[in-house]
Amino acid sequence: MTDYSNEPDFREIPFSEHGIARSHISNAALKVTDALQNAGYKAYVVGGGPRDLLLKRAPKDFDIGTSATPEQVRKVFPRARLIGRRFRLAHVRFGREIIEVATFRGTSDDGDRSVAGSGRVLRDNVFGNEAEDAIRRDFTINALMYDPSNQTLRDYTNGYHDIQQRCLRLIGDPEERYREDPVRMLRAIRFKTKLDLKIDSATDQPIREMAECLVNIPAARLLDELLKLMMGGAAWPTFQALVEYELWESLFPGLIRQPETPPALVEHALKNTDQRVRNDQPVTPGFLFAALFWPALQLEMQNNKAQRPIMDQLAYAAERVFSRYTNNVSIHRRFSTMAKEIWMMQPRFERRRGKRAMRLLGEKRFRAAYDFLLLRVHEEPELADSIDWWTRVQDVAEEERRAMVFGHSKPKHQQPRKRTSSKQSKPGKDNPLPASSQQS
Ligand code: ATP
Ligand code: MG
Repeated sequence: MTDYSNEPDFREIPFSEHGIARSHISNAALKVTDALQNAGYKAYVVGGGPRDLLLKRAPKDFDIGTSATPEQVRKVFPRARLIGRRFRLAHVRFGREIIEVATFRGTSDDGDRSVAGSGRVLRDNVFGNEAEDAIRRDFTINALMYDPSNQTLRDYTNGYHDIQQRCLRLIGDPEERYREDPVRMLRAIRFKTKLDLKIDSATDQPIREMAECLVNIPAARLLDELLKLMMGGAAWPTFQALVEYELWESLFPGLIRQPETPPALVEHALKNTDQRVRNDQPVTPGFLFAALFWPALQLEMQNNKAQRPIMDQLAYAAERVFSRYTNNVSIHRRFSTMAKEIWMMQPRFERRRGKRAMRLLGEKRFRAAYDFLLLRVHEEPELADSIDWWTRVQDVAEEERRAMVFGHSKPKHQQPRKRTSSKQSKPGKDNPLPASSQQS
C-alpha cells in the first residue's frame, strides 16, 4: 500500500460530495480498472475524465493510471499494445474504444529520465507511486483520481477545490514546470478556453516571458498541440489567447502581420471552424491552414509579380510561404497539399461558363474551395456576384445547371465545333457551345 500519510493535502472525497457515479464511466474503462484491481494493482480513472465529469462535460475519453507496469498490464490484457517513446503506455482496445493505461510515474531524477540543459524533460519513464503520479501532472484539475470500485475521488493537489472555483493552477513552481515542458503553456491556453476557466495569477504570470521556450519543442509535437488547440471548438478564442500571451509568435513568427487584429478572413475562418465543430460537421486542418497562410500568400504574390501565368505564380508563392513559416510548427504534407489545392482553385471561380466551370464543380476539393471563396468575400466584396452564381449553380437541378454553365440544357456534342475568337465565344443563344479557346 502506498503511504500517503505524509501528503498533507491528500483528501478522499466521497460520492455524496462529488456525485460522479460509476455509471458515468465507459464500460471499457471499467473493465480495465476492475481487471487490474482484481489482479492486485491500483487502478483509477485519471486526468481529463474525472475533470470533465465534474465540470458537467462529456469526457473525450477515459485514461487509466495504475500501479501495474506496462508489462504487467499486458499480463492482465494479453492483447494490450505497448506504445510511446516519451512515455511508455499500454493501449487496450475494446471494439472502437481504446483505453490508454499509464503506469504511475514519479519525479525523481534516477531511473529512465533524461533532461536537456534547459531543464526540459526529454524522456520520462521513472515509475512512481500514486501520490507522485498525481503531483507530476500538469494542472491540479488534471490530477484527480477516480476509483470506480467505491466511487471516491482521490485528490492530492486540491484539484477538487480548484474545479469548484473554475481555477486553472499548475502543480508546483510554475516557472520550473514550464521549463520542464513548455508545451504546458499551450495546454494552459487550451484548458482556459475550452473549459472556460480562469488561470491562477502565479500560473499566468510567467507565460509571456517564457513563451519563446516553445521554439525548442520538436515541430511535430507542436503540430499535435496546435491541432488540439484549433480543432476543439474554440479556435477563435484560442487564437486570441495565444496572441495575448505572446505564444502565437513563437509558433508562427511573422506569419500574420498584426495578429492582434488579424485579417477578417482569418477571423471568419476560425469562427466558422468553431461553428462547424458545434454542428458536428467535419473540419479539416488543411482548410484552416489555407486561411491562416492566405495573408502571407497574398503578400508573397504582391512582392513577386512576375510575368508568369497566375497558376505558376500561385504554386511558387505557396511553396515559399510554407517553407518560410513552418520552422517551428511542422505542417503535414497532406495539410499543406490541401491548402495549395484550395488556393489553386480560387482563380478558376472567375470562369462561370463552359466545360471548365463544369469540371470545377466535379472536383474533389470543390466544396472546400467554394467555402474558401465564401471567406474571401469578407475582404473582397466584389466577389459577391460570383459567389451568388456558384451558390445557385450547386442548388439547381441538372438541367438548369447545364443551362447556367453552357447556356442551354444539353451539350450538343454532335454539332461541329467552330473556331471563334474569344470575344465571340461567350456562350449564349447564338453561341451555345463553349469554345475551348475561351479558357486558354
Ligand atoms: P483532453 O480532454 O483534451 O484529452 P486531458 O487532460 O485528458 O485533456 P491529455 O493530453 O489526454 O489531456 O493528458 C491526460 C493527462 O495526462 C492530463 O490530464 C494530465 O494529468 C497529464 N498530462 C498530459 N500532458 C502533460 C504534461 N505535458 N505535463 C504533465 N502532465 C501531463
Ligand atoms: Mg485525454
